[in-house]
Amino acid sequence: MPLTGIEIFKLLPKTNCGECGVPTCLAFAMNLAAGKAALGACPYVSEEAKSKLAEAAAPPIIPVTIGVGDRALKVGGETVMFRHEKRFENPPGFAILISDAMAESEVDGRLERFSQLQYERVGLTLRPELVAVKDDSGDAKKFETLVNKVKQNSDCSIILMSSNPDNLAAGLKVCADRKPLIYAATKENLDGVADLAKEHSCPVAVRATDGLAELAELTTKLTEAGIKDIVLDSGSRTLRQVFEDQVIIRNTALVKKFRPLGFPTIVFPGEMTDDPMKEAVIAAAFVAKYGGIIVLSDFQGESLFPLLVARMNIYTDPQRPLATTEGIYEINNPDENSPVLVTSNFSLTYFIVSGEVETSKVPSWLLIKDTEGLSVMTSWAAGKFVADAIAPFVKKCGIVDKVKHHKLVIPGYIAAESGGLEEELPDWEIMVGPREGAHIPAYLKTWKP
Ligand code: SF4
Repeated sequence: MPLTGIEIFKLLPKTNCGECGVPTCLAFAMNLAAGKAALGACPYVSEEAKSKLAEAAAPPIIPVTIGVGDRALKVGGETVMFRHEKRFENPPGFAILISDAMAESEVDGRLERFSQLQYERVGLTLRPELVAVKDDSGDAKKFETLVNKVKQNSDCSIILMSSNPDNLAAGLKVCADRKPLIYAATKENLDGVADLAKEHSCPVAVRATDGLAELAELTTKLTEAGIKDIVLDSGSRTLRQVFEDQVIIRNTALVKKFRPLGFPTIVFPGEMTDDPMKEAVIAAAFVAKYGGIIVLSDFQGESLFPLLVARMNIYTDPQRPLATTEGIYEINNPDENSPVLVTSNFSLTYFIVSGEVETSKVPSWLLIKDTEGLSVMTSWAAGKFVADAIAPFVKKCGIVDKVKHHKLVIPGYIAAESGGLEEELPDWEIMVGPREGAHIPAYLKTWKP
């Protein structure tokens, strides 16, 4: 059982030095018990106390990493039921299903969609992370060949799906170095799958057939066998039951601090419906609550893109505005005579302005100034988007090397800065653009160098 705040307090130095970020050891102990602080924040905990506190300090939902390198996926590690309480930590991974019973052309098509369906948004690349390779044939050699093909064609993270430990071993023979997720240990094959997970140091998924109590029994056996990286499949395959399971698992792990269910989950929307659009809607429900890995029966742009955007939005820290990277953005292939516009790096501002410039079809340079993610008016009021801040950025960003003219269009909402900017940038003519993004296309069509 995890320690209470008072039990933790007894193990702390009780000097109230405040170096952990809160004023007293008691406050730190309470935060630790609630999973809102890390033990490492106190530099004065004794080694003996550290080992006793390790259980209390462990996150209530263990983070699990699947894969290696840049494409590795970390799931779990969540500390709250609701995003507004703090934030969600690790976005769920999307996996495409590939089976060794599929025709080669179908496999090739899915692998192609997996690598091609990726999107740039807010300076981020949105894309799926995993390929789930399923043993439907029962033939170890066939399974191994398909796993090898997936590995050779992509640097994705892999899920190996089979109920037969021998076939899983065949798959691991070719991709163990990618640290795939082994799916799944069940009550029938637990020992064999646990041996594989230990031998190859890979995370393992556990699937129950008879509810969450069985799931907890299976994870307890695995942790007793020394396996820490576990992913949960409740075994349910109806939307209602899987949804209920996700909420109960999250609640039991966070609120009741029940360790056997303190792991990320895996869900299969494709096994809950035959309708691809319904599958996408179900997947969206599990992006919000509380899928760790979401395996889709296939990827199509029209359903994957909204899911990627929903995931990005839900896993954005609500206390920190989404920001675009500072820099020069080229829209519609600008040249040395194209207009130069400047705006803030609040992502919504960037999207609206860049979208309107694109719609205008006028080749343009868009300067995005770092305003810590604040919108034009808010950053102006906070002194982050004023002449003193914009001018140094315009000088150092390199736009002078890209255009022959020296004309800078500023948002209409900061027209009051035009005088200050003319002083700070004496070589530039400051032009006041429209207040609203919708008026940008008409404005640009009349712009002259
Ligand atoms: Fe107490 Fe350690 Fe925090 Fe200092 S840093 S107040 S000793 S818990």
